[in-house]
Order: sequence, then C-alpha cells, then structure tokens
Amino acid sequence: MKKNRISHFYTKDLAIRASALITTDLVKEIQHIHQSLPIATIAMGRLLTGSLLMASGLAEKQQVSIRVQGTGPLGQLSADASFESEARCYATNPTLELPLTNGKLSIGAAVGPGILTITRFHEFHKHPQVSIVEIQTGEIAEDLSYYYQQSHQIPCLVSLSVSLDKNCEVTAAGGVILELMPGAPASVITALENKAKSGRPLSEMILGGATPWDLVKEYSHIENMTETLHLHDIKYHCPCSLERVERTLGLLGQAVLAEMILKGAPSEAKCHFCGRTYSVSLNTLRKLHDEVQPD
Ligand SMILES: [Zn+2]
Repeated sequence: MKKNRISHFYTKDLAIRASALITTDLVKEIQHIHQSLPIATIAMGRLLTGSLLMASGLAEKQQVSIRVQGTGPLGQLSADASFESEARCYATNPTLELPLTNGKLSIGAAVGPGILTITRFHEFHKHPQVSIVEIQTGEIAEDLSYYYQQSHQIPCLVSLSVSLDKNCEVTAAGGVILELMPGAPASVITALENKAKSGRPLSEMILGGATPWDLVKEYSHIENMTETLHLHDIKYHCPCSLERVERTLGLLGQAVLAEMILKGAPSEAKCHFCGRTYSVSLNTLRKLHDEVQPD
C-alpha cells in the first residue's frame, strides 16, 4: 500500500485549524479484509477516516474508539485509531444490501437511530474518557461533527467521503476536519459552513487528483495556511493475538468456560477487525477455567 500521512493546517492567527487525509488505498484494504459490499464499505471507510483524523489531534500513545450503535440493519459499526495512525474497523453486517434512497445508497438508513460512543484512551490515565451522543443522521460526518461541537464546545466541520464505481471498486476516499479555535469569532464558522455547502464532493475532488491542501482550501476558502505532515503513516493494523483472545475468554466466567469444555471441541475465535482465527485448545480452556474465580 502506498504510504500516506495526515496533513495538518493552521492559519497565521491560529483561529482555524484543519486536518485532511486521503484514504483511497486504506478503504480498498478495508473492503478486501472484510469482503464488504458497498454500504458497509462506505460506512466503515468514512468512520475509519474520521477516527484517524480525530486520533491525530490527540497526543502520543493515545487512542480513540468510535462505536456507532444504530438500530438499522448494518448493526454495530466500530473503528479504533491511534495517534500513531494505526487503525482498524468492522461492521456487524458487512454484506448488507438495501434499495437505493433517491437513487443513492443511504448510509443513514443502514445505521438508523441510536447512539455514538467515543472513548479516548490515555496511556497514563487509569480510566478512559467516554462520551455518548445521539446519532444525528447516521451519515457519520454529521455525527462526528455534532460530537465535536457537544464535547469540545467549538464549532467544527467534518466531511468524509468514499466513492465506488459500477463494479463496486473503491475509487476515492478521504476526509477533512475544520475546527475553529476558542476565541475565534462565531461569524467565521457560519461563513465556513455556508461556503462548505457550496464545496464540491470530496471524493470527486480526490478522484481528480486533489491534494489534502486542495480539499481544505475548497472547504475553508482560505488562501493561506501553514501545512505540517503528521509523524506517522496511516496503516490498517489489528493488535489481536492468541494471548488477548485467551484473556477475553477468561473474562467470560467459569460457567461459560465449563460449558465450552463440556462440548469437548477446541474453541474457535475469529477477530471481527481483521478476520484472523484463533484456536484455543481444550487444555488452555481447562487452565483458564481453573484460574478464574467461581461465578
Ligand atoms: Zn484482529
């Protein structure tokens, strides 16, 4: 996969900052890993792009997990990303198909109403920071933008886009986050929002070869911003391991483990994020059973 990094931008007076990222190759990889059909590919691609942009605004060794729990047919949609730009995602129903709404795939209809949970993990904090907001449209970008406005109390604009061709191949993907810093006049964001509405669709621009700066410029209509590149290349990465699977099994409790042992077959566990399968032997199950506290 071609190496790719998030670009950060800020204005001279520091009133506006933005981050932008092109994720075409990453979303192709998601589609390949999950063997997903268009609805789930678009939903996961948007969420993973948004979570990478969000995580890049944190500090080293910090991570963000975003769970979109809607009541729609897509089921749960989930993405994890770190400041180091490692990310993974899944959707409960990656092969969902729905009829078109007004000639388009409606991600909002697939997600449905529900809640969005954003958890931030800090290396030195014992407890993660959890925020829960209601799903606004289910189209992901509006939902993340709403979260930013609610939790950071700053005006923010999020735009995320994934496009596919007639053969369901990913052709373009990317995202932009524009944030007004505290103290910036509210009139600026109103102007930004109005201008953003007139912006061309992101994926159309990416398909045409746009750079992250072209995307930010189109949405902000600001001519001059300083650009810095994020320190890490984006990468689909799942840290799952047999050890972690065993630890998770240990959390199921003695009764569940006993039931698994009585079935007499080794237990298969498949990671939803990367598809790797792990086989846990009967001996290990017995060991875990003996180690856990009785229920
Ligand atoms: Zn995994």
